[in-house]
Order: sequence, then C-alpha cells, then structure tokens
Amino acid sequence: MTRRLNWFLLALLLVVGLPFYWLMIDNRPGDAPVKPVSIAQLRQLASSVPGPAPSAVEMELVGWRRLPGSLFVAGSGIKRKLVGVMAWRLPVDGGKAVVIDSGLTRTDAEAMGMEVYYPQIQARIERALDEAGLVLVTHEHPDHQGALVARGGAPLLQAARLNPGQLPRAPLAATLPWPTGAAPTARLAPDGPQAVAPGVVVIPAPSHTPGSQMIYVRLSSGREFLFAGDIATFAQSWQQVRARSRLVGDHLAKEDRREVYSWLQTIAALSRQAPGLVILPGHDTEWIGDPEHRVPVRSGFTLGPV
Ligand SMILES: [Zn+2]
Repeated sequence: MTRRLNWFLLALLLVVGLPFYWLMIDNRPGDAPVKPVSIAQLRQLASSVPGPAPSAVEMELVGWRRLPGSLFVAGSGIKRKLVGVMAWRLPVDGGKAVVIDSGLTRTDAEAMGMEVYYPQIQARIERALDEAGLVLVTHEHPDHQGALVARGGAPLLQAARLNPGQLPRAPLAATLPWPTGAAPTARLAPDGPQAVAPGVVVIPAPSHTPGSQMIYVRLSSGREFLFAGDIATFAQSWQQVRARSRLVGDHLAKEDRREVYSWLQTIAALSRQAPGLVILPGHDTEWIGDPEHRVPVRSGFTLGPV
C-alpha cells in the first residue's frame, strides 16, 4: 500500500510539479549578454539636441488588476501583485509636453479584465496626447499603444514617433484598432539609441515585443529616468533579473525571452553606472508609489483649463 502511495505521489509530483516549475518558476537567463549601451552614450545623446529638456515626470493611473506575481516575475511567488496601467507626461518649460504611452480604452480594459478602470483619467490622458509635441510608446500592446491608435487622427499620429515594429503593417501592431486609411510612417530607426528631443533618447529593444523600446530621459534638473516598459514589468524584474513566466512569455503573450534577459541585465548595468537613475517599470504602481522608494514622479497630469 505504502509503495503504491509513494508511486502515486511521485507521479503526481511529476505531472503537476514539473509543468508548474517550467511554466511559473523557471528563470535561467542563460548566457544572454549585456547590450553595448552605456550611460555616457545616453547622456551624450540627451544633450545633443538643443533646447529645453522636460522639467518633470507626471503619471496617471487609468486602471488596475491583481494577478499572481510569478506570472510577470518568474519564480517570485503566487501572491497577487497590483498590475497598474499608467501613462506619463513630461512637461517642457515654454514648449509642448512629451507623452509616453497612451493609457487604455474601455473596450481593452474590459477585454483585459481590469478590476478598476477610470474613464475620466483616460479622458485626461487623451487630452494630454492631443496637446503633446511628441508622443512615444514603449511597445505595441493595447495597454501602451492601443488608446493612441484608437484615438487616431492625422495630427496625433503626426505627433507620435513610432518605430517600424509599432506600425500597422507589423504583425503584432496590426492587431491594434487602427482607423481605416491610417498610414503613419516610421519616424524612429529600428536600431541604436537615438535622440528624439532635448533630454529624450529612445533605445530600441525588440524583446518583449518586436516594437519594444526603452526611453531615457534627462530632465532640465539633471535627474535621470529610464522608462523600461514591459521589459521590466516590475522593479523586481530588473533588480533580480527575472523574466516573465514561461506561461505568459512563451504562450499567452509570446516574447523573445533571451533578448528580455539581455535587456534586464543591461538595465541593471545602467543602474550600476548611474545609481541615481530612476528606473520606471511598466506596471509596478505600488513600487512607484511606495514612499520608501522616493520615486520623483508627480501623481496626475498638470493640464490647463479646458
Ligand atoms: Zn506588454
């Protein structure tokens, strides 16, 4: 009897435990190398465009849901984490603001199972998009680029600087709700860090998606930020070099895991080179809001009266 029970337990362990380990816990970065991007290079590019750099970083939180941590940070435990959807506005003294990411439409909020969604916040984000001088998105997923595409309109798509992976003809971006006839062209090169505005540098990083990029910002005060997008969904992602679970990254929302590891190691390397660099993860609203971390980000966009 005991022997049969032992065999049964062993079989159970193999049938349940192995797939669980593989899909939720496995986090072996392999030999993914650090990318040849240095903080000196980013600083040089940031100062290569004359004019006033942004003066602050503002954040809006348009909705959230809670999901087991291990889904987005492999091996971090099944305790649920708050997954916030955020957009960013960088005011520029005497000029038009830079907006990064575009929030979330109500349709996508429902499709993604958001527990909470604030339509009035989304309206503020869309107003900020309309008034922006430059719009960038970290990648072509609905909770980053979808609302920009849905809002459409020639002037907005003109203000948006997209990379080739974020255009309607790119396979993943093609699934976004482009207005008929929208034909934006790529205004960002597919590789190599590039300055796009005073103090703002785009770092192409195909990995989480083909159109993924990180954005380095050096404010007029000298304060430095790195918008990591969903390469680092949470602070833990880069601090412990943990990719998404295989369940998510290999199956539900396919990503190039080796490239993600490369970029996570690169973020960690940049942080070692510039300990003051503020790394903003894609969905870690709790880490950003934790007073202990003193993240120098303002809550809420400062938009003028309508
Ligand atoms: Zn994403």
